[in-house]
Amino acid sequence: MLIAGTWEATTEVIEVRNPQDGTLIDTVPRADAAQMERAIGCAVEGGRRWKRAPTYERMNVLFKAAGVIEERSEEFARTIALEGIKTIREARREVARCVETLRISGEEARRLDGETIRFDQAPGGERRKGFYTREPIGVIGAITPFNDPLNLVAHKVGPAIAAGNAVIVKPDSRTPLSALKLAEAFSDAGAPRGVLQEVTGPGSSVGAQMVRDPRVRMISFTGGRETGERIMRDGGFKKYAMELGNNAPVIVMPDADIVDAAEAIVSGAFWAAGQNCLHVQRIFVHRQVWDQLVPLLVEGARGYKVGDKLDENTDMGPMIDEEAAAKVEVMVNDALSKGARCLTGGTRDGAYFMPTLLEGVPSSAMIYRQEVYGPVSLIEPFEELDDAIEAANAVDFGLQAAIFTKDLDAAFRAGEELDYGGVVVNDSSDYRIDAMPFGGPKGSGLGREGVRFAMEEMTEPKMLSFRLSFRLGPAAPERSPASSVKPESGAT
Ligand code: NAP
Repeated sequence: MLIAGTWEATTEVIEVRNPQDGTLIDTVPRADAAQMERAIGCAVEGGRRWKRAPTYERMNVLFKAAGVIEERSEEFARTIALEGIKTIREARREVARCVETLRISGEEARRLDGETIRFDQAPGGERRKGFYTREPIGVIGAITPFNDPLNLVAHKVGPAIAAGNAVIVKPDSRTPLSALKLAEAFSDAGAPRGVLQEVTGPGSSVGAQMVRDPRVRMISFTGGRETGERIMRDGGFKKYAMELGNNAPVIVMPDADIVDAAEAIVSGAFWAAGQNCLHVQRIFVHRQVWDQLVPLLVEGARGYKVGDKLDENTDMGPMIDEEAAAKVEVMVNDALSKGARCLTGGTRDGAYFMPTLLEGVPSSAMIYRQEVYGPVSLIEPFEELDDAIEAANAVDFGLQAAIFTKDLDAAFRAGEELDYGGVVVNDSSDYRIDAMPFGGPKGSGLGREGVRFAMEEMTEPKMLSFRLSFRLGPAAPERSPASSVKPESGAT
């Protein structure tokens, strides 16, 4: 791990195992309290210096780190595919997005601006001029999950560094290797000591220590809702960005391009074996197109090749561990016992859960309201858009939703009425680019990611107001033409 500019090891280690067969890939240090304490102390110092670094330096570090990752992209992709849940093709996509996230961060560094304020809008504000800038918060603690072990770290590190903060990353203990490689890329890119540190160790010990420390002014967390709530209780009075779970609805209207919709929905349902906050969980299909769409979805799910993550032909890998797969199995069985029918899948082999489609799932089933976080989607018919929207909103999540339609009115209504942070038209809920605002209401979290929006969360406005000694007011009376002086020729 990287503390105070030095790569450190410990005698006690955390084993990193390949979720598909349990083989040992590597070990990482299990940090103790003294190491986290040193990292925080160094971040305070690093943050003070980095705040004063000129914008071009921030930009250089980010662009260079992006370049290092791009050059070594295959090595990064293999690390993601080995330690995590993604196939090699999915992992390559994540690496490309990480490069993009860091480049956007470099670009946004130059646009981090405030604005001038019209003080004379209020009595007593005459003779004042001023503006605000956006100042870094100081030290940011970044706590990240396993599902995008590289790009979700970049989504915190890039904006934090672009905005002039110091950042300490505490990656998920199951997938720490990609995050450590990211830190290596920043070291190679010349990031100064203390600007980025990475401390590996259990969330419940060193993670909680970082959360509780008052010098860490903001926690940027992506992960499960329960952990997020616990962090906010533990951390008390500080700033939080919380990127939590979802239960994404996708609505298919009768006028949609059904073949195109089926393809997008299958990809959104089974990408990263459903361990994705944008996973298509509930598919609302208009009755008129049910008989066309549902067989295409079933065919798509059955066509998915599940297996070895490093095989170029594999479409879907395992879940992060057997326990996670068993949890999905419990949810599926609960739905089946309450009357749901399984159209395809529904079976588990160790950490692998087959691509699964259920229909007739009653709202009393836990899989209907909770986040499944696995490769299972529910299909439900509707007749009126109102009913689909109401059902889509009837969960305590709101990250992103989607509608397939060619009808502008239906698209705009969905955009207005779906209670989600993002509504996607004619792509599945899984559509995202790294520059867009990302986050949602209700149980999906607090604040927004997406580089520019994360930078806003990671900075605070600072006002400068000037009282002037001369009066800013109505212009002096115009001189008469006779007394005016003619400008010399050529003067402007
Ligand atoms: P999790 O268990 O909540 O863990 C996430 C991170 O929190 C890990 O690094 C973990 O460390 C750390 N942690 C655990 N307990 C902690 C504590 N008491 N104090 C500080 N840190 C602590 O994550 P998960 O449940 O596997 O993540 C899946 C969830 O993430 C899903 O709900 C998914 O939807 C959500 N997610 C959301 C987004 C988004 O952008 N909205 C993106 C991806 C995923 P250890 O590993 O060491 O325990």
